[in-house]
Amino acid sequence: MAGIYLHIPFCKQACHYCDFHFSTSLKKKEEMISALRRELFLRKNEITEPVDTIYFGGGTPSVLSNNEINLLIDEVYQLFNVAENPEITLEANPDDLSADRIKQLAESKINRLSIGIQSFFDEDLKMMNRAHNAHEAWNSLQEVKKYFDNISIDLIYGIPEMTVERWRQNVQKALDLNIPHISSYALTVEPKTALATLIKNGKIPTPDDGIAHEHFLLMIEMLENAGFIHYELSNFGKPDYFSKNNSAYWLGKKYLGIGPSAHSFNGENRSWNIANNSLYINAIQKDKLPNEVEVLSKTDRYNEYVMTGLRTVWGVSLEKIETDFGQDYLAYLLKNAQVFLTNEKLMIENTILKTTLKGKFFCDGIASELFWVD
Ligand code: SF4
Repeated sequence: MAGIYLHIPFCKQACHYCDFHFSTSLKKKEEMISALRRELFLRKNEITEPVDTIYFGGGTPSVLSNNEINLLIDEVYQLFNVAENPEITLEANPDDLSADRIKQLAESKINRLSIGIQSFFDEDLKMMNRAHNAHEAWNSLQEVKKYFDNISIDLIYGIPEMTVERWRQNVQKALDLNIPHISSYALTVEPKTALATLIKNGKIPTPDDGIAHEHFLLMIEMLENAGFIHYELSNFGKPDYFSKNNSAYWLGKKYLGIGPSAHSFNGENRSWNIANNSLYINAIQKDKLPNEVEVLSKTDRYNEYVMTGLRTVWGVSLEKIETDFGQDYLAYLLKNAQVFLTNEKLMIENTILKTTLKGKFFCDGIASELFWVD
């Protein structure tokens, strides 16, 4: 099985914290749709496996009309071997989800919505410069629930001035709405974002890691008590509601990334498209792929496996390390893991190395200590 990811690089306005690739000008929307369709055609032979997930990410894919979305889905169906009942996800923002729009989406092949709620409180939404307000966040979800069962929402924790109580209420609202999948990220300050400037100028306090850690632990407790499985560092799902698209990435399956800045993995190489709408469109119009390709070395593959394994509930299989990478890598991993096994941030369970609750928040840092450096 394989996945197809389509990057829709447009947003209505720039959120203060965001460093994804997008443009707030929709002038090139039509040309972009043609270029995405053309890239699908140019790369149709890269994936021969059945495609069981199609994912519209961004940017804000819900800025596309239903016709545009359907054109792209139809193109995928024409060019690829799409499995039966594929997961077809659209990332959407609450301000795009009117009752009519939701109804139209439900009539398309989209069967999963991933909604950028981020917070149910106006203070947080304003601070992050989101395009929607708390009322739209709540109402859009109530409406979406009438038509969709497979729903994910994004929530951000560790926002400056967000108290633990306000975070608790955010998670509780998601539970009250009976949302079956939640992706949740700590607010991070990326260089060159408006957030970085606002903090530098003293307009917003720096996010506090200690508070973010407290939010993270509270969320795990609340969601696990409600029957969610914390299957990846930033992802919680009820059984049968894990994201197939993201799981494919974590489990090392092939995926084709279409659109500016999209990444692909063909089992051996990673490639990524240029993160510039005009240059992307110009190249594709000349039937050129504007991408860079990186052949993954054994060390790259080991490091990636350790990183994704420690972030997920599937962990790092010591048997796989030995079979795929050899005795040297296994010995190196165990030697470097020892300090974290001793301080109980890692554990070994049936030959699987996993992060413990105590280690989860720090798992990217722990993984980097286990990386093989040539
Ligand atoms: S809507 Fe999403 S992609 Fe667009 S600016 Fe906000 S966070 Fe970034």
